Amino acid sequence: MDFDDFFSGQLDQLRQEGNYRVFTEVERKCGQFPQVRHFNDDGVQDVTVWCSNDYLGMGHHPDVIDSMVRTAQACGTGAGGTRNISGNNHLHRLLEQELADLHGKEQALLFTSGYVSNWAALSTLGARIPGAVILSDEMNHASMIEGIRHSRADKVLWKHNDWRDLDRKLKAVGDRPKIVAFESVYSMDGDICPMREIVEVAEAHGALTYLDEVHAVGMYGLRGGGVSEERGLADRISLIEGTLGKAYGVMGGYITGSHALCDFIRSYASGFIFTTALPPAIAASAMTSISHLKTSQSERMAQRDRVARLRARLDEAGIPHMRNDSHIIPVHIGDPVKCRMVSDILLRDWGIYVQPINYPTVPKGTERLRITPGPLHSDADIDRLVVALTSLWAQCALAKAVA
Ligand code: PLP
Repeated sequence: MDFDDFFSGQLDQLRQEGNYRVFTEVERKCGQFPQVRHFNDDGVQDVTVWCSNDYLGMGHHPDVIDSMVRTAQACGTGAGGTRNISGNNHLHRLLEQELADLHGKEQALLFTSGYVSNWAALSTLGARIPGAVILSDEMNHASMIEGIRHSRADKVLWKHNDWRDLDRKLKAVGDRPKIVAFESVYSMDGDICPMREIVEVAEAHGALTYLDEVHAVGMYGLRGGGVSEERGLADRISLIEGTLGKAYGVMGGYITGSHALCDFIRSYASGFIFTTALPPAIAASAMTSISHLKTSQSERMAQRDRVARLRARLDEAGIPHMRNDSHIIPVHIGDPVKCRMVSDILLRDWGIYVQPINYPTVPKGTERLRITPGPLHSDADIDRLVVALTSLWAQCALAKAVA
């Protein structure tokens, strides 16, 4: 086989569909976020980022940076090993205590990313609980899907956010160990699950509940414990999973739950055991970020204010956007080529960076721009984004009229 020929053919197909991924190369500058430098073929351009998952700008918070720098100077860079072989740092344990406290759980377990935590935890639960069935919301993230697939456990998909469908499917499964896997904030539509109903249905069937709060931790709840904290449901959920890489502005992932559950995953999950532990400086700065957002409301308040302002301005300008109760504003385009084109024009002509979201991240025909306003976007940034989108929308209307 001519392997390179095969690879090139597959890539050409992606290009033809408009789904070939082009990475935008930026340099974040401390103190200037969401303004960044964009490196392109013509040189360097100043742009405003509108699609960052550093939702609260904590990646540039002086205390978080200071904590990372001081710890690297004190402890060095890498952890030096897996948690099992010389890499288990005192700071890992302190961070796990901080996370367990965040969600009101007995214990927490750190992973190198949110993806790995979902993959490792779900694959271990599904593989190791005899006869387990995993009931997964049909819109769950790729990391959960892959974890479930790897477990080889039986999987049942339930309709997105439809707790009545979940109820029916749990009943049909009968007397087997059941795991209900779902998310709080679905990141592409920005919708929030009916958590109370899901938890009550799962409880009625004696199922273990597995909740991904990746897009909600730091963002919702008085202490940033996510939607489960905001709705007073955290103590009724068996396992809460999250990331340190989005609202907390660092990187890493985790699960929280009972001692027995976390110790079980710690002892059996290959994605936890056989990989180098997070650097101590990452653990320290994540701890600073979490503890800051446990008491400070100002970042969350400012972020909500920016979301409300942008939505109001989009409404005034007649730019359609998907309604939801979260911080994510999806603007539907519905075509991969147009979606990339709009994003390219925004970047090139307006210095506005919004990544096109195409298949397979979202289903074909639902391509969109996914806008995430942050506390550091100014009124002028918002005005400029709305003016740019208005101009593009007017051009599209004109092009349709002429055609
Ligand atoms: N879970 C969900 C719902 C996500 O959207 C993501 C990433 O975007 C992850 C998990 C993975 O988290 P991380 O980026 O920390 O790997």
